[in-house]
Amino acid sequence: MFAGHFGLAAAVKGRTSSRVPLWALMLATQLLDILFVPLLLAGAEKIEEIPGKESYGGALIHADYTHSLAGALLVAAIAGWLAGRRWGKNGGWTIGAVVFSHWLLDLIVHRPDLPILPANAGGLPLLGLGMWHYPAVCAGVEALILVVGAIFYIRSLPRSSVNRPGARSVAAGAAMVLTLAASLATDLLGA
Ligand SMILES: [Zn+2]
Repeated sequence: MFAGHFGLAAAVKGRTSSRVPLWALMLATQLLDILFVPLLLAGAEKIEEIPGKESYGGALIHADYTHSLAGALLVAAIAGWLAGRRWGKNGGWTIGAVVFSHWLLDLIVHRPDLPILPANAGGLPLLGLGMWHYPAVCAGVEALILVVGAIFYIRSLPRSSVNRPGARSVAAGAAMVLTLAASLATDLLGA
């Protein structure tokens, strides 16, 4: 769901007039997965391939800290607090919400592998609606989020006085479309 997360960042950037720059929104949507990398390397979190499944969504992800509900809320709160100091209260709330949106999108697609508490303390049920069981549906939803994100983003770009997009806006829009298309391709190829 790499592409879906990015598409959401583009949509948020297009819809809000906040001072938060696009790179911060992009980073915020992927923050839980970024934090997952050092924990993966340290062996605290794992990816388990499901034999016989194609690469797109074909894994159980044991991200018991970064992708626990409590962990995601904590990371969102810290990121929101830091962003608030830099971009003001609205910016802080925006970043916090975007960080947590990652967990909500993951909840829809993941197989039940998302714990409520870090390290699955208390053995509570694991969460995940498992849309990855239906790769075609999933890819369709991701593509839809991307298209909506790209439209919101492009419509938000500044226009010149004759109400035509300026050269910089065309370049920014094209760069966004390319980034989103590349992230979708990455997802589908399972890279
Ligand atoms: Zn994730």
